[in-house]
Amino acid sequence: MSRVAYVNGVFQPHAEASVHIEDRGYQLADGVYEVWAVFDGKLADAQGHFERLDRSLAELRIDPPMSRAALKIALRETIRRNRVRDGLVYLQVTRGVARRDHAFPAPGTPPSVVITAKSVDRAAAEARAAKGASVITTPETRWARCDIKTVGLLPNVLAKQAAREAGAVEAWFVDDLGLVTEGASSNAWIIDREGRLRTRDTQANILRGITRKTLLEVIADAGLTLEERPFTVDEAKSAREAFITGAGTLVLPIVKVDNQVLGDGKPGPVAKRLRELYIQRARATAW
Ligand code: PMP
Repeated sequence: MSRVAYVNGVFQPHAEASVHIEDRGYQLADGVYEVWAVFDGKLADAQGHFERLDRSLAELRIDPPMSRAALKIALRETIRRNRVRDGLVYLQVTRGVARRDHAFPAPGTPPSVVITAKSVDRAAAEARAAKGASVITTPETRWARCDIKTVGLLPNVLAKQAAREAGAVEAWFVDDLGLVTEGASSNAWIIDREGRLRTRDTQANILRGITRKTLLEVIADAGLTLEERPFTVDEAKSAREAFITGAGTLVLPIVKVDNQVLGDGKPGPVAKRLRELYIQRARATAW
């Protein structure tokens, strides 16, 4: 019996079912899911899962893809077409397909909806349950491995969207101590009131930016001194200059942090110079 999957309103052979490569679920983990147990072809705990789905969607501000009644029909139909009596039905809803950008796509971009169903062997499950099972323990590291360049970017997506809505290009994350960690898609730098060039060290839990690394060499070659030391939000707001680095923005001068304008509100001389030097070096060494 061949399995089928529901993909955006169409049933496709499971083996060929696919979403676009620029689906935000695939690229940014920008989506939610639910799983219902299926008994006798029907949804178990149906209401609780629907309510959690609505909540998850609302928290991420993803438009509900269809009414609950329509969704129930699609779920039941997927179960039926896969001839599942006892098993699981899986639903995934993402923010849809759009040219890759952390911030939300244009309003009206349709969410992507995928539904799959699979059978489970209840007798085998009962036999396992009768024996009991085991667990191991592991450190709680969820959302705490920002040093890995993972596509699990949902917090970055939400931060970037908040920046966009505030008319800013970037959001700087601030840790429990009030220290800036990094941007949603860039590393953060300031030139503090004493004129010291500063960026957070990479022992901490941030992405080791490649642009950051090269810029450290540029800074050393230019005879400038740098402190790899975190800075507070207040230090950023009272800084002489600030900038961000990343493959997308290169070295981008920052002239405002929250509502605080830095200096005279124009890109500072050091940031401008470092942008020039970085681009020169990157151009000369590109291969
Ligand atoms: N931090 C984060 C969270 C990023 O997504 C990026 C961009 N990839 C950076 C820093 C900058 O890294 P890079 O200079 O390697 O582009």
